Amino acid sequence: MHDVISGVWIGNQEHHNEDTFPVIDPATGEAFAEVCDADHHEWDLALDRAQAAFPLWAATPPRQRSEFLRAIYQAIIKSTEEFAVTMTRESGKPIAESRAEVAYGAEYFRWFAEEAVRGHGRIAPAPAGTGTIVVTRKPVGVVLAITPWNFPLAMATRKIAPALAAGCPIMVKPAEETPLTLVLLGRILAEVLETFSFDPAIAAGLVSILPTTKAAQLSSSLMADKRLKKVSFTGSTRVGKLLVTQAAQHLQRTSMELGGNAPFLIAPDADLDRVIDCAMQAKMRNAGQACVAANRFLVPEELFDAFQQRLIESMSRFRCGHGLNATTTLGPLISNTQRDRVAALVDQAIEEGATLLYQGSAPSRGFFYPATVLSDVTPEQTIYREEIFGPVVTLTKYQDLEEAINLANDTDFGLAAYLFSENVHTVQYLASRLDAGMLGINKGAVSDPAAPFGGIKESGFGREGGVEGIEEYQNIQYQAW
Ligand code: ADP
Repeated sequence: MHDVISGVWIGNQEHHNEDTFPVIDPATGEAFAEVCDADHHEWDLALDRAQAAFPLWAATPPRQRSEFLRAIYQAIIKSTEEFAVTMTRESGKPIAESRAEVAYGAEYFRWFAEEAVRGHGRIAPAPAGTGTIVVTRKPVGVVLAITPWNFPLAMATRKIAPALAAGCPIMVKPAEETPLTLVLLGRILAEVLETFSFDPAIAAGLVSILPTTKAAQLSSSLMADKRLKKVSFTGSTRVGKLLVTQAAQHLQRTSMELGGNAPFLIAPDADLDRVIDCAMQAKMRNAGQACVAANRFLVPEELFDAFQQRLIESMSRFRCGHGLNATTTLGPLISNTQRDRVAALVDQAIEEGATLLYQGSAPSRGFFYPATVLSDVTPEQTIYREEIFGPVVTLTKYQDLEEAINLANDTDFGLAAYLFSENVHTVQYLASRLDAGMLGINKGAVSDPAAPFGGIKESGFGREGGVEGIEEYQNIQYQAW
């Protein structure tokens, strides 16, 4: 059907097999590419090669690992447009957002190139005076990363870069909906590897990209193998729990970046100009398909009418369309299933007592869902409990700050929370009370490769980025001297 069929990358080699699956453009609903469907032949080979690469890579001087990461950063930046177009075609996000993701995703390589040479440990006198405590870190071993479709590049680079920096080979299974971005990364990595004179066994097994429709088989088969030492997952809480259960078999280490249900708490002393800008950023990036997307807007009674009016003005400015069209500000959702799920969630909310304040228009072709605002949303409604993953703002009115804090924390999730206040005491108080791994304080975005990204409660555990990010790929060794 398509001239070029993208292969599976095992180290620096592209493999083709008979089975393929289509990649759909969510803005048209039509297939535009085919990719090879990895099965056990490929993932077994990837694991063998990764295991062979491990001791060699772990023994490669940190400075060389660092320079390799830095070269990948530069290669990605050089290919920004190719990455951005690929990402927009397979994920639907507006091209400007794809370009921003390329910069953000590449930055993990630059950041961890810098961290690769800072393998600090700790030294302390034993309190009893019996000697010295030395704490060092060692790479965990072969890693499996499983990534979602909403940020096809960045969700993978924030795992690949720290793993490589720490000295670990890594196999990556991209989401079935968006395999092409990482297949492209596989090619770029192979090109960069050619410019380094590493042992051929390193090049053959350092990073593998395994697109497949058999995610469950891949994870259960690889995790049944003791050589796999670590699983880093970004995706739904449901699959995360399953993987943690699977990891119990060999006690593999896991990092889990799971769902969110972020509150967006507007204090009575907030600056509405700032609030509106940040609200659009926190809610509408990637059409609301982000685990840190603002899910529940908590608005004080005294600001409610003013906020509601400004919100509708802003939401009515979004223009749906193909992401490659420069005027598009709202892309499609990833699939028909996701669109139907968001539509059903909104319908159910209305049945349960919410009011539809605003709904824009959206093309019928492709998987679009219009910008939507719901008011009178209460904790009893399903939409309050679930991650919406769509361009839908839900408004909940509150009377006093204690009520707002209780509303904000009334969720099983704890990834991001946003809070808005011009008063430093209110900010301090709210920050101390909100249960979340990340806080946006008068800010609508919390992502920075130099900061530890991650959640608490059923949003998972482990951190990506920052000085903490590399620790997910290291074992601690305590030496008594
Ligand atoms: P989403 O709802 O965002 O698609 P998922 O958790 O289903 O979230 O998907 C995230 C990633 O997990 C994808 O790469 C998907 O293929 C993968 N996945 C789904 N089920 C499993 C499984 N049983 N084992 C391993 N990976 C899985």
